[in-house]
Amino acid sequence: MADIPEEKKCSMNFLGRSGLRVSNICLGAMTFGEHNLGTPGQLDEAGSHAVINRFVEWGGNFIDTANIYGRGKSETIVGNWLTSQERDRFVIATKARIHMDVSNPNDVGLSRRHLTKSIEDSLRRLQTDYVDLLQIHMWDSGTPLEETLMTLNDLVRSGKVRYLGASNLTGWQLQKIVDLSKELNLIPFISLQQQYSVLERSSELEPFQVCKLNGVGVLPFSPLKAGFLTGKFQKGQRPTEGRLAFCAEDPDKKMPNSHPQWSKLDTERNWAILDALREIAEARGKTMAQVSIRWLLQKPVVSSVIIGANKLNQLDDNMGAANGWTLTEEEMMKLDTVSKP
Ligand code: NDP
Repeated sequence: MADIPEEKKCSMNFLGRSGLRVSNICLGAMTFGEHNLGTPGQLDEAGSHAVINRFVEWGGNFIDTANIYGRGKSETIVGNWLTSQERDRFVIATKARIHMDVSNPNDVGLSRRHLTKSIEDSLRRLQTDYVDLLQIHMWDSGTPLEETLMTLNDLVRSGKVRYLGASNLTGWQLQKIVDLSKELNLIPFISLQQQYSVLERSSELEPFQVCKLNGVGVLPFSPLKAGFLTGKFQKGQRPTEGRLAFCAEDPDKKMPNSHPQWSKLDTERNWAILDALREIAEARGKTMAQVSIRWLLQKPVVSSVIIGANKLNQLDDNMGAANGWTLTEEEMMKLDTVSKP
């Protein structure tokens, strides 16, 4: 593989209102190891390590995993890679909240008990003394927020965690975290990881307003809507390969929001967005994936875009959004208009 020119490599951004510098593209590790849902296209350890190494060649320093990805397998794969590296050069983010052992009622949620166990397990799998960013994976209405925030504060004070973040919150939930952290004089959250793409903009309405007002950096996940925004699918034709082929059409089957139903994607609005992406991509000599990711990178609230790639060529394609070119104001406006929520 030819060397990547310096001007195309990732740039560094501060994560929210913090002093932590992260590459403007973050490597998502959800496809490392076996997925707990059985999603196809998952990478084995060698394949995952090849993707991470290539990401590092692109200048990336930021990796996002979670305890739940493959029920620990993703963290283990990242940890095995990390042991061959200079730990201090990388920013490792993980998450806690989702049920790990469903037979154990305390192996879930944002309680002091579960968070404390969860970070111990994550550190063991990641083979490191600290994670840079611990994110609550989603809200837990069963645990008092004071308990959660005070535990997270203790984890930072103990040195096991450097910074705190959240994911999948509504605006009021994030505002409540910000306010209570201030009231109790606790360490503030610096990031919010939400599903955000040119097709899925609902978080702009409230959560991102709270982010802007409080110095919380946005980390968009599913920037390509599970691959839909690459333009590789055809109108009216249900995918036969990859994650989208796997996603259940049964509305009663509970799937995470990274696994959308094809019938919800195959709409006139969405094909109009794809047409606009295609036009811009062709005019600029870029791919639709690159234009989609670039659109996110140029949103001021965004600190780093979390990409997913289960092949080296997908990684290279997506990293081509990182640097060395920008969308014009007109191109941004065209995409903003066609995708208006
Ligand atoms: P995307 O929406 O970008 O989907 C990635 C998938 O799209 C790939 O696995 C691949 O699937 C396909 N794809 C990616 N790039 C290309 C390309 N250039 N050409 C063709 N196909 C491509 O992101 P994810 O949903 O995977 O999310 C990224 C990361 O975000 C995760 O790894 C995780 O770290 C984080 N995340 C966080 C969540 C949360 O709740 N906080 C939820 C979900 C993700 P295929 O080959 O099968 O078509």
